[in-house]
Amino acid sequence: MSEVYTGRFAPSPTGHLHAGSLVAALASWLDARAHGGRWLVRIEDVDTPRCVPGADPAILQQLAACGLVPDEAVVWQTQRNDLYATALQTLVTRGWAYPCGCSRKDIESAQTVARHSAAIYPGTCRHGLNGRPARAWRLNVQAVQAALGLPTITRWQDRRLGPQQQNVGQEVGDFVLRRADGLWAYQLAVVVDDAAQGITHVVRGQDLADNTARQILLQAALGLPTPDYLHTPLVLAANGEKLSKQNGALALDLHTQQTVLTALNAAAQVLGLPLVPEHTVTEQALAKWAAMRGSPR
Ligand code: GLU
Repeated sequence: MSEVYTGRFAPSPTGHLHAGSLVAALASWLDARAHGGRWLVRIEDVDTPRCVPGADPAILQQLAACGLVPDEAVVWQTQRNDLYATALQTLVTRGWAYPCGCSRKDIESAQTVARHSAAIYPGTCRHGLNGRPARAWRLNVQAVQAALGLPTITRWQDRRLGPQQQNVGQEVGDFVLRRADGLWAYQLAVVVDDAAQGITHVVRGQDLADNTARQILLQAALGLPTPDYLHTPLVLAANGEKLSKQNGALALDLHTQQTVLTALNAAAQVLGLPLVPEHTVTEQALAKWAAMRGSPR
């Protein structure tokens, strides 16, 4: 039996939806509808210090105003600690996760090469804490690759970006599964949840493409399936950076049929899709439109 297409939109409730996040929401919804599949919403609120109170119901309302209604009850990551703890325990038992006593300063001073803003972890605690207290938990990338016979370079095919590859051990290092402040890391939570929710297709913003190799590795380590990936174009701010709250993204005005259409049309345009016909912002009408147009490119 072939598996049912299951897609998702997984916003972090750090603010309202803006023009950039609507692109990912619309693309994931359209792709699910174009495949006759299910579409779920997961609120990624593990990073509690960054969450804004009230942002989650606001996002759900904004999605509903656009006719983007999930096919199942919404889940919140903060209610799923047990699942993440079990996954970490599995990795620890297999000898693939280890405690790390390094501070950010230790890691930064250990080397000069920085990747984006994050320093590459040099593996300091891989063979023991040297008497320091444990802070975070990390995945032993080399151990996983060696035990499972995986190549050091992780390759995957992105449906929009084409063939992708990353040497996680060299370009990222042993990455964090549980943070020093006790919070679950995005990588662990997203992999556990995508599998638990039966996600077959991930459609999300291109800024997240760089996480995919880590997630594929973690899926392998946990014996979980790897979904299909499609990363959507980003909406850029006036300064050329990815649109975000920090560089002036406004919460979308979705109070009238007209403003909803304007927002959806802007998102459709970023995806290279034809404009949403007027008076059709209902789920059924959008679904019909999606089926007619096929998946976003
Ligand atoms: N929660 C992430 C974000 O809002 C998205 C994660 C994902 O789609 O994998 O940027």
